[in-house]
Amino acid sequence: MKKIIVIGGGAAGMMAAVSASQHGGQVTVLEKMAVLGRKLSITGKGRCNITNIADKQTIIKNIPGNGSFIYSALHSFGNEDIIDFLHSQGVMTKVERGGRVFPISDNAKDVVGAFQKAFEQRNVQVVTGQGVKRILVHDGKVTGVLASNNVEYVADAVILATGGSSYPGTGSNGDGYRMGQIVGHTIVPLKPSLVPLEVEEDWIGELQGLSLKNVEARVIFEGKKVADDFGEMLFTHYGLSGPIILSLSKKVAELLNTKPGQDVYLEINLKPALTAEVLDKRIQRDFEKFARKQLKNSLGELLPAKMINVMIDLAHIDPDKFVHQITKIERARLQEQITNLTFTITGTRPVSEAIVTAGGIHVKEINPKTMESKLIEGLYFAGEVIDIDGYTGGFNLQAAFSTGYVAGQSAAEK
Ligand SMILES: Cc1cc2nc3c(=O)[nH]c(=O)nc-3n(C[C@H](O)[C@H](O)[C@H](O)COP(=O)(O)OP(=O)(O)OC[C@H]3O[C@@H](n4cnc5c(N)ncnc54)[C@H](O)[C@@H]3O)c2cc1C
Repeated sequence: MKKIIVIGGGAAGMMAAVSASQHGGQVTVLEKMAVLGRKLSITGKGRCNITNIADKQTIIKNIPGNGSFIYSALHSFGNEDIIDFLHSQGVMTKVERGGRVFPISDNAKDVVGAFQKAFEQRNVQVVTGQGVKRILVHDGKVTGVLASNNVEYVADAVILATGGSSYPGTGSNGDGYRMGQIVGHTIVPLKPSLVPLEVEEDWIGELQGLSLKNVEARVIFEGKKVADDFGEMLFTHYGLSGPIILSLSKKVAELLNTKPGQDVYLEINLKPALTAEVLDKRIQRDFEKFARKQLKNSLGELLPAKMINVMIDLAHIDPDKFVHQITKIERARLQEQITNLTFTITGTRPVSEAIVTAGGIHVKEINPKTMESKLIEGLYFAGEVIDIDGYTGGFNLQAAFSTGYVAGQSAAEK
């Protein structure tokens, strides 16, 4: 029986451990946190968007950071396979908007529980509160790992599944990159992916905490729209966050990095379902209704309360003016703000605040069919520690599960 050590009990490491044990390996998971799957437990706002029901090509397209690298792994273990695995452990799933799959219970901890149950069934040994500081290599072959308490664990194969550098409080603090680098692997520079954006406009503070649904956001560069999305967003004290902003952040970060010094704007349309004409009629209707009120007291049905003063100010209208005195030009300026609320992007938040870390172990140094290192025999990689990153929608966890499954199988069978 091959002895296999999995470093990291996150999504990829737990899947790798199940797979290695299913394929005949004797598995030990070393997890430095006190519990398994800390990050998995907070995914999808605590609901865990496990995967996406899209076909394989679409999944790969939704992993702009080296999606094609997981092509083979996705064939070995795809979205239906992770769903089947969870069902086999009693965790039923449902499909929501955009093909996103969640546990029926809406509780991410149930997904962690499914792995724990599988570990008990398969005698996978789990040591929590046990970090690893080094991978041990002799003559180009893995021999085990050195734990942070200086205990050596001997192994025939080691699977490095330590995650990225984002949300370090969950345990993923970049240890894996350092361990990989020490044994000779190249680390593609780390960058935040799916990350909130910082803006120049200081009045953003007035909108802090406001969340908007059904809005459109557009990235504008050199006067042209280069990306857009529709859905939910959030204002913070430094800028913009929420699902559609995170999705657009990859494009924004790319522009900020490749074209430094050039302005990148984000425009928000608060009423994307209305044409200009319909919106104008809508505003006029409200103005008739509130004709005797001051402008600042007349927009409550059109805009969230927190936005009213900001929008009137941006439209350069006197907030104390009575509605019946508002001119057509002023009304047009207000409409312009409602449909083209513009922010100047100054940067992204750091990697630690990103949902996913882009960069990591170079994919060219990993065999995509087995996840084995091309440099060190018996060393395997799985999950976010590899230079892979996807969009929101369940694609990052699917990448972790697919690479984890293949790494576990290959480590056990080789
Ligand atoms: C807030 C948030 C929400 C998210 N929501 C979703 C979602 O709904 N759907 C989706 O697809 N993706 C989501 N993601 C992304 C997804 O969680 C990650 O891509 C995924 O967890 C990566 O899996 P992993 O196993 O590679 O890494 P992780 O899940 O980060 O696991 C790595 C594990 O390794 C351990 N570890 C690290 N260093 C050591 C060491 N030296 N020794 C021992 N153990 C170590 C860590 O403690 C950790 O438990 C979300 C991310 C965040 C931050």
